[in-house]
Amino acid sequence: MGEKVVLITGASRGIGAAAARRFAAGGCKVAVNYLHSREQAEALAKEIGGWAVRADVTDPVQVQNMVDELLDKFCQLDILICNAGVAQQKLFGDLTDEDWRRVFAVNVDGAFYAIRAALPHFIHRKAGKILTVSSMWGQVGASCEVGYSAAKAAVIGLTRALAKELGPSGITVNCVAPGVIATDMNRGLAPETLTALAEETPLGRIGTPEEVAQALWYLASDDAAFITGQVLAPNGGLVI
Ligand code: NAP
Repeated sequence: MGEKVVLITGASRGIGAAAARRFAAGGCKVAVNYLHSREQAEALAKEIGGWAVRADVTDPVQVQNMVDELLDKFCQLDILICNAGVAQQKLFGDLTDEDWRRVFAVNVDGAFYAIRAALPHFIHRKAGKILTVSSMWGQVGASCEVGYSAAKAAVIGLTRALAKELGPSGITVNCVAPGVIATDMNRGLAPETLTALAEETPLGRIGTPEEVAQALWYLASDDAAFITGQVLAPNGGLVI
């Protein structure tokens, strides 16, 4: 892919970290955004020759400063991956205002702020790849994850609408909607729940962060130049 500059939000752990490694292995300069996991982000940045940058994606000022600093440092941004996310399992009736706001703030507002901050640069260059990270629950809904499902469905809506708006500017916008992936996000699930989900999956197992990173890599590559507004689902066939 050449010397492209990639900003990945929530890249200190899990899928974001796997994507950071994948894009670095492909010759990209990677900005590793993090919020709490500073040590992990800095170690990862060191490992891949990237740049660790702290910003809370729920704060538009911090996100704007991160993008401005990145552009000062690297003079370009080619690919933005809006990956930072939080999930929550609760009965709908138990959700507080704060629960609801938090899930939307990270998953939806976070993508909005990051894209808005990067967009003038992309439009100026008439180029850019925007990738969002939804979830299969954003496609089909999950019991006890209504807030998360709604937020991830919003991410898909944002992707499709924005692809239409930005196509004429030479910018593509695509989404990955992973199935169950082995990261900290699923650490809270009981082992029997994970086993049941693996058994329900046609490919018979849960996925790896590296497999999601491959889907992101493909959508960011020139091989996907004519693809926009699409949702690619590395989910082992759990949702078809
Ligand atoms: P994870 O292991 O829990 O990692 C979440 C990442 O998001 C961390 O790097 C965390 O950074 C970052 N983050 C959270 N809040 C943030 C904020 N306010 N500002 C900046 N960064 C923030 O999760 P994951 O499984 O890799 O999930 C990555 C994405 O994939 C999420 O959007 C998730 O919804 C989606 N997804 C995951 C699965 C799955 O099964 N794992 C399935 C479908 C979709 P710090 O640790 O530095 O705070």
